[in-house]
Amino acid sequence: MQLLIKNARIRHKKEWMDIAVEGGKIMDIRPGIVSEAEEVIDAEGHLVTSSFIEPHIHLDKVNVLDELPDAKVVTLEDAIEVQAIAKKNYSEERILKRGGDVVRREIANGTLHIRSHIDLDDVAGIVTYDGVAALKEAYKDTVDIQIVAFPQVGLMKCPVAKELMAEAMRRGADVVGGMPANENTPDDSRAHVKFCFDLAEKYDADIDMHVDETDDPFYRTLEMVADEAIARGYIGRVTAGHTCALAAYDDHYAAYVIEKVAKAGMRIITNPPTNLMLEGRMDKQPIRRGITRVKELLDAGVTVCFGQDNLNDTFYPFGAANSLQLANLTAHAAQMTAPDEIEKLYDMITTEAAKILGLGDYGLEVGKTADMVILSAQDIREAIRLDSDRLYVIHKGKVVAKTKREVSLMI
Ligand SMILES: [Zn+2]
Repeated sequence: MQLLIKNARIRHKKEWMDIAVEGGKIMDIRPGIVSEAEEVIDAEGHLVTSSFIEPHIHLDKVNVLDELPDAKVVTLEDAIEVQAIAKKNYSEERILKRGGDVVRREIANGTLHIRSHIDLDDVAGIVTYDGVAALKEAYKDTVDIQIVAFPQVGLMKCPVAKELMAEAMRRGADVVGGMPANENTPDDSRAHVKFCFDLAEKYDADIDMHVDETDDPFYRTLEMVADEAIARGYIGRVTAGHTCALAAYDDHYAAYVIEKVAKAGMRIITNPPTNLMLEGRMDKQPIRRGITRVKELLDAGVTVCFGQDNLNDTFYPFGAANSLQLANLTAHAAQMTAPDEIEKLYDMITTEAAKILGLGDYGLEVGKTADMVILSAQDIREAIRLDSDRLYVIHKGKVVAKTKREVSLMI
């Protein structure tokens, strides 16, 4: 046997379990497994779960703030504008270096699946694809990175982005992105949506768009995307990130759109770090939170997850590539404090995010790939509350990272 984990505390189970791994797969989960193993870990009653998933990040942009120490950003428009300055200096090597720092942090923090958007426009060109593809290749033995072709500055506004989107898909991007609200008219937004669906159909790819990342209720592209998914039968294949305007609509229209989102089998990713910072920025008190209607979407049966989005870039100056920290932030932003809501937050970085990334071979179950994390925690609430150490991060039955903080109290 490759690995035997003894005395694991597993979610929703009272009794401690042993987990047997062979050939990178979970072979058995039950108490009292007796067998020889190349490696034996005594979890000592600590929580053992599936490894984490980061469903929405921008690995081409991360850490770019280190290159722009004087950047001053107030709005999303500022962030895009200042980012464009850095974009001129993008190179495959720079993206590999900046992104590599984040990927290593993700691994250390127990995240072994990542979905990254990459900017495609007249300034970025295609180097963002090449840089993140190089990152994907460099870390492929440990982490799985999906690439989303993303026209940040629009497609009608920036027609060369259409060619770059097609080129990125030809080169091997996994998912078609979009940013339909960033066009000059609703008709252009509709044309943007149609272009993205046409491209996705051509490659039989999933879609993951940035949708209505604004607190202005004028923008209604979430409904456009849901309508298009329903019309084309692209059910269960479309994810919308942000959807902040949904929170700005009146309750009646919001309920109407949520019903369409549910009908289209769409998934939603909220990104509290960036949205808490950039939405509602011009409000006088009370200042809106800016995140989407998480609880209403969940109540409608929609899969909702959350992502880091931006990290140490012009959109967001912090971020630690830490899914437990994000769960804590999302709990505050979405007011999720009841026991079942706290459990749901953990589902959002594990099993629910797996649905968005289309990971069939994922989960703490017999027969699945042994991607796991052993936390210095007894339960989910403690893990999120204390940002518990990832005592072991395990990929395909192999330990790929260990963390144990030492604290010396001099009292
Ligand atoms: Zn984003």
